[in-house]
Amino acid sequence: MNEKYLALNQSELPERLSSISAITNKVGSNFSNWDVKEVGDGNLNLVFIVIGDKGKIIIKQALPHMRLVGEGWPLTLERSFFEYNALIRQEKRDPGIIPKVYYFNKTQGLIAMEFLEDHNILRGKLINGEKVEGLSNSLGKHCARLAFRGSELYMDSSEKKADSALFYRNVELMGITETFVFTDPYYKAELNFNTDGLAPIIKILREDTKLKTQAHKMLMKFSSHGETMCHGDLHSGSIMCTHNDTKIIDPEFAIYGPMGFDLGMLIANYLMSYFSQPAHRLNSIETSTFQAWLLQIIEDTIEKFSTEFKLLWNTERKGILYSKSLFEDQGQSSKYALDSVMSDIWITLLSICGIEMHRRCLSLAHNDDFEKIEDTVMRAKLEARNLMMGRELLLNSNSIKGVKSLINMAKEFNRKDFL
Ligand code: ADP
Ligand code: MG
Repeated sequence: MNEKYLALNQSELPERLSSISAITNKVGSNFSNWDVKEVGDGNLNLVFIVIGDKGKIIIKQALPHMRLVGEGWPLTLERSFFEYNALIRQEKRDPGIIPKVYYFNKTQGLIAMEFLEDHNILRGKLINGEKVEGLSNSLGKHCARLAFRGSELYMDSSEKKADSALFYRNVELMGITETFVFTDPYYKAELNFNTDGLAPIIKILREDTKLKTQAHKMLMKFSSHGETMCHGDLHSGSIMCTHNDTKIIDPEFAIYGPMGFDLGMLIANYLMSYFSQPAHRLNSIETSTFQAWLLQIIEDTIEKFSTEFKLLWNTERKGILYSKSLFEDQGQSSKYALDSVMSDIWITLLSICGIEMHRRCLSLAHNDDFEKIEDTVMRAKLEARNLMMGRELLLNSNSIKGVKSLINMAKEFNRKDFL
């Protein structure tokens, strides 16, 4: 495994990995019996399930090009190094939230990790109308822990700077986000595609210079406000669940960026699931029941985030930011400071949420919530609600007060017809 990079394939994998004890300890050393399946459904990498006498394991390997687009789009293998580094930080900052990591090889761009056998991708579950117990608790707390414990509210200042310097080298994947998330939705970029019939909505978005300014204000935040480590791609395809357990995978887009980035992207994905429900449920009762559950998830996730963030603020604030020496040690409350930080996070969250709602319908990487709707007239109608709510969030992020307003806004857009 120390030779130069070579992509794995099903037939060669057993022999190539057979000398790595971290792997044979998990699956067994009798490699000629290993059963190997490639299951990658993502856009960038190879993912194999390896089953041996002793157990099962996931092998994820970076490819030197973008899988979604093909060999014409080279990508550095180093993203696997960032993924590995993000995984170990996620585990440290919120133990148990990621699959266990067993082995990493930088030259081969390879990570061996726990096979989440009983878990399924959350996006598929939401399309199927399956609820997950404890979802908001896990993810709300997780977003707070990752945001807080990766920032200078908590971390030692020099450690934080070293960490940000390391992740700022993840420029290639940052570049993908900068282009496909923040920029391409707002003009006729080459790789864009969209559902037929959306032209009138797209015109509204792309002609609005205030909207584009807001989007790029957020891009500036994304690319230059390294407040904390973000997963960087926390959509419902990066979350795997059983009926009552939640894990997060695939942090290769990890960066030091603004607090609220991950939570905003996550909420956008819940909202897109919400708007798409009429196409996936059998009747309006089923639709409204599942939609009500999704809105509850959004509300609870934000609530859990706030409660956990406040708890960490009060119990783990040991970094240079808003230090106790300036507030509590002076006999003063830090409540105003906390409210101010939370308010910034809220505005970032809403704005990122709006941008994610746009890019998933207009840029290169769409999501199955909408894409799986075969009736394109219906799809366009539902996507229009999503796009228009995204616009509202971006334009009015400063004046939307509290989660109830967000929920009411979703209900209102869900009743509107724009096409
Ligand atoms: P990519 O970076 O290419 O998007 P992902 O990390 O998202 O790759 O993995 C692609 C797919 O492989 C996931 O959607 C999931 O179905 C499966 N997968 C990835 N990691 C695991 C795991 N630890 N356990 C089970 N399945 C996994
Ligand atoms: Mg993925």
